[in-house]
Amino acid sequence: MNLQRYELLSGEEARRILEARRLAILPIGAIEAHGPHLPVGTDNLLAQAIAERVAEQVGGVLLPLIPYGQVWSLQDFPGSLSISSETLGSLLVDLGLSLQRQGAALVAVINGHIGNGAALQAAARRLYQLKGPVMYVFTYPGIGEAASRICSSRPMPGGYFHADEIETSLVLHIAPEQVRRDRMIREEPQLPPDFLYRPVPWTEITRTGILGDPTLATAEKGESLLEAIVEQIVSVLRFALQRLG
Ligand SMILES: [Zn+2]
Repeated sequence: MNLQRYELLSGEEARRILEARRLAILPIGAIEAHGPHLPVGTDNLLAQAIAERVAEQVGGVLLPLIPYGQVWSLQDFPGSLSISSETLGSLLVDLGLSLQRQGAALVAVINGHIGNGAALQAAARRLYQLKGPVMYVFTYPGIGEAASRICSSRPMPGGYFHADEIETSLVLHIAPEQVRRDRMIREEPQLPPDFLYRPVPWTEITRTGILGDPTLATAEKGESLLEAIVEQIVSVLRFALQRLG
């Protein structure tokens, strides 16, 4: 299906196409330190790439990316910029209601940053209470299973992966020119036994912001990982559109 980018449509077109397609696809990332070998906008690059592939396959209208996210864990690393969960949640609720006025029944949030997850889920529930559009939140669905087939490493406890084999492979596939291969460092995170049960700033567990071994990354692994994520999102959204009738 042809890719429709919301920001390039006229107002009339935007409303007409959104009313017809009913699905708005909203990529969101973060600005966050990703070690010396990846840019701070890595999560934005990934969210945008996934959202474009999803939009090509299921239709809908692709919204401009939200480039800021909740970066609590890495807020003290050089380059990280953070907004609060409350700000992010309010933004998503406001935007959801506004999209509904333009004809959207479904909003698919393609989230490139795991730290945004709680705020996005809260916003989706708030929109449900408000009888707003149905908001779906996709944060790399199926990545753990796909990584176990494709990579030597797995996401950490809590599902985190960061500037490691998994994430670096994804960037090598979608934007290889952004990866500084000569600056890759391997760092095994030192997780305290209570890691999952209290707020742990990542300055406690990693020096560089890397959680694993990016030198194992390849573009081929990234392509397979990306395919698995996109396939999962596409199948859920096809079901969601059918459910709308
Ligand atoms: Zn990331």
